[in-house]
Amino acid sequence: MTESLARHLACIDCGGRYPLGYRLECERCRGLLELTYDLERLRKEGPALFSGTGLWRYAPVLPIADPAHRVTLGEGGTPLLDCPRLAAQLGVRRLLLKFDGPNPTGTVKDRSSATAIAAALQFGYRATSVVSSGNAGSSIAAYSARAGLRSLIFAYERASAPKLLHMAATTADLVIYQGVYDDLITLWDRLVEERLFFDCGASRNAYKQEGKKTLAYEIAEQTAFTPPDVVVAPVAVGETFIATARGFREMREAGWIPRVPLMVAAQATRANAIARAFRDGTPIRPLKIGYTVAEGLAAGNPGKKGEWVLRLLHDLKGLAGDAEDEEILDVQRLLARVEGVWAGPTGVATLAVLRRLLAGKQLDPAQTICVIVSETGLKTEAELPSRQGTAFDHDSLRRLVLERLGSA
Ligand SMILES: *Cc1c(COP(=O)(O)O)cnc(C)c1O
Ligand SMILES: [Zn+2]
Repeated sequence: MTESLARHLACIDCGGRYPLGYRLECERCRGLLELTYDLERLRKEGPALFSGTGLWRYAPVLPIADPAHRVTLGEGGTPLLDCPRLAAQLGVRRLLLKFDGPNPTGTVKDRSSATAIAAALQFGYRATSVVSSGNAGSSIAAYSARAGLRSLIFAYERASAPKLLHMAATTADLVIYQGVYDDLITLWDRLVEERLFFDCGASRNAYKQEGKKTLAYEIAEQTAFTPPDVVVAPVAVGETFIATARGFREMREAGWIPRVPLMVAAQATRANAIARAFRDGTPIRPLKIGYTVAEGLAAGNPGKKGEWVLRLLHDLKGLAGDAEDEEILDVQRLLARVEGVWAGPTGVATLAVLRRLLAGKQLDPAQTICVIVSETGLKTEAELPSRQGTAFDHDSLRRLVLERLGSA
């Protein structure tokens, strides 16, 4: 079936309901909006509702009515990798990696870009824009190009070289901004009201966020609807975390899964406003942040989305944690060597946080733990290994092979 079962936009604060238009917040209380679906149909028809492959397999639980608007570059359908060797190293019974590096632009952002650009088409926009630390920019630019829309991309001056190259290749309108994400986002969010472009930012757009919900649906299907006990999700502004939690909740309400996994919010220590508020039991205090290797997590002021993450953590009895840059880089190397998964620092922050929570005995290692690894390593900028070449003859080559592998 390809019919969308989306029904309303609902305010997460006052419950106010709106028809499915392009609306970014509640008219009454300015609260954030979330999409609601025909739960009866979900309950009655079950997962047999889904057909096809990739992200649009989940079209019934996404808010795009007309199949002609469902832009795709082949996103979604990423692997859930059982990682016994890494599990043994970390001392957990079972470790699953939801690896989103194979997406078309190498990150989880393609899930939200697909539904954002589809919504831009649905609501008749000709141009899109986003403020990005690098990943959202390449992804929104790529999907806009694919849909024939213009994209005005604001990119972080310290974004890695591969991310900048990627953005420059996919949009004619790339603007580098000074400072960090937080320095521009409030100004840019105010401009959104003028409707000169479709909002592809992470602050408010429910249609954009919804694409990331497919992470939960994929994890559920890949585990035959017996989802893992724990899911660790990255948090910058909170889209990925919120959407994943929403997906699991929806499936529980529809009776497809017995319970929502324990959700863990993972941040970089250098941008840990939400993890801190969770730990201290306080409201979120925006942080002035500098550089973190987890570039995609570099937001010091997550705004209303951050409050939503905190609320979900309380409602679902979840956990939050953070990890230092050195720990993130260490686990990046470990994952590549032990499981062959080359992921970026932003992508493995979740794994570094998991390692910390295990060390602090905040998580039970006897559980099945799923970690979302949200970024390919191919967008990483790091020091190169030596390029010093060696010239060989038969003997020296044979000696080297014996030296390296003789005892293997
Ligand atoms: C943007 C991003 C995230 C998380 O951002 P949210 O706004 O919290 O969803 C995680 N991983 C990668 C690779 C990203 O680019
Ligand atoms: Zn409201």
